[in-house]
Amino acid sequence: MTKDYSFETRTVHADEGYKNEVGALRTPIYQSSTFVFDDAAQGAKRFAGEEDGCIYTRLGNPTQSDLEKQMANLDGGEAAIATASGMAAISGVILGILEAGDHLVASDTLYGCTHAFLSEMITKWGIEVTFVDMSDLDNVKEAVQENTKAIYTETPSNPTLSLVDIEGVSEISDEHDLMTIVDNTFMSPYLQHPLELGADIVVYSATKSISGHGDTVAGIIVGPEELLAEWRMTTIKDIGGIIAPFNAFLLLRGLKTLAVRMDRICENAMKVAEFLADHPKVEEVHYPGLESHPQHELAKKQMDDFGGLMAFELKGGYEAGEQLMDTVELCTLAVSLGDVDTLIQHPASMTHSPVPEKERLEAGITNGLVRLSIGIESADDLIADLDQALNKL
Ligand SMILES: *Cc1c(COP(=O)(O)O)cnc(C)c1O
Repeated sequence: MTKDYSFETRTVHADEGYKNEVGALRTPIYQSSTFVFDDAAQGAKRFAGEEDGCIYTRLGNPTQSDLEKQMANLDGGEAAIATASGMAAISGVILGILEAGDHLVASDTLYGCTHAFLSEMITKWGIEVTFVDMSDLDNVKEAVQENTKAIYTETPSNPTLSLVDIEGVSEISDEHDLMTIVDNTFMSPYLQHPLELGADIVVYSATKSISGHGDTVAGIIVGPEELLAEWRMTTIKDIGGIIAPFNAFLLLRGLKTLAVRMDRICENAMKVAEFLADHPKVEEVHYPGLESHPQHELAKKQMDDFGGLMAFELKGGYEAGEQLMDTVELCTLAVSLGDVDTLIQHPASMTHSPVPEKERLEAGITNGLVRLSIGIESADDLIADLDQALNKL
């Protein structure tokens, strides 16, 4: 499928790649662990990489391949690898790029498990990491060392919704010949295009907007063909966090409606953010679409719309945060994000409860902070639910 078609058209039509014998409209689920060779010569050629074709599902599977082609197309990358989870994608990329003695510069506000992987796991293997506040590019410049190999970032960040200038970080990275890796989960390939802004590798938790229906855990890596081909036959294959064919099928299905879901989510989110900003029980709303967001101009520059994630601070602090979780009726009390359902959670007592209080407060995750991931319900119903719940505080 040509890249000249619009994103919306490509989400519907770009996965028509894999030839199936009966002409099924949709990519079948190739629920097979292994693939049969015609003869010894063919087996040898496939193992030697001299002939295309399947060998064993951990090395690739037709359902997975269609998803990968579709994702590479939508993200404007040369190639993609689908993985068992977002963390399998992230850890696979990091281990593909860095080795003992290397150094990584990373954002100080990252998804919790990514932060744990970078701060506790890879340091055990002799890889050094410096965490910096990347909303100020000078911090990134200062952190680069002689042995730095890559810069890792995530924007908007979780859960405070501060932004990182992807183009600015990529320029610094290029000056030093480093790889720039961007976790684009919050925005999805529809709303933000890190490769166009100069990044080298994009990673996703496809569990979120790409699936969109809260029924799959999966990840995606998008980047240069040569590098991904190498990882496919090394880190990804040998660590083994590959995607199941059924999950690849679910993501192909989710992608078909990505654009329409995200349009509705963004429209709803803007209305909810404006409502919350005016509510007497709410101290502050963090949403990149509001003019009050300190990086609203950057948001307009690097994002096509403002996404479905927001955080707001309650005047009543920790207690009010906990109480709100029990007084909402329509908003679903659950972590995760990017689903068709609106999800609400209280970071201080939930996702960020393991973080020591002092550190948590320094990262802007205050006691009364509530995170909302807006869904595709009616905005009026969401606002009415939040209003009744806030008025009970
Ligand atoms: C959920 C998430 C991850 C981890 O993805 P899993 O699919 O849960 O492994 C990584 N980064 C971000 C920004 C996420 O929201």
